[in-house]
Amino acid sequence: MIDFFSDDYLMKLALQEAQAAFQKGEIPVGAIIVVDNRIIARSHNLTELLNDVTAHAEMQAITAAANFLGGKYLKDCTLYVTLEPCQMCAGALYWSQISKIVFGASDDHRGFEKMGGQLHPKTTVVRGVLADEASDLMKRFFAERRK
Ligand SMILES: [Zn+2]
Repeated sequence: MIDFFSDDYLMKLALQEAQAAFQKGEIPVGAIIVVDNRIIARSHNLTELLNDVTAHAEMQAITAAANFLGGKYLKDCTLYVTLEPCQMCAGALYWSQISKIVFGASDDHRGFEKMGGQLHPKTTVVRGVLADEASDLMKRFFAERRK
């Protein structure tokens, strides 16, 4: 199938979600899930609002996409997320058997690649899409919190 939306465009939507998280005082991470040129989930980090350390953008996007599809596996789906997933999210993405993950900035401290987390063998990964925008947002967030 021809992709109507570019990786940059979809990552911009994920960045808008990250911005929404920022405005709520949440660590600014946003996620979008796409299947067959349809956006079926958009979410952002809500760990503060929900008082829940598992409320990462990816976890909510996985749940929303599975609800939308009416099945637990995210076959043929692509996740766009502004920051490299953590180990927990990589684990959840493993179970979802998602086809593709596109992430923005790498997380050298808590990213799954550094921590030795694994994705499903069928999942392909694209790194560094609009990475500067995503990491700028994170830097601004933590700079404001230090004030
Ligand atoms: Zn996570």
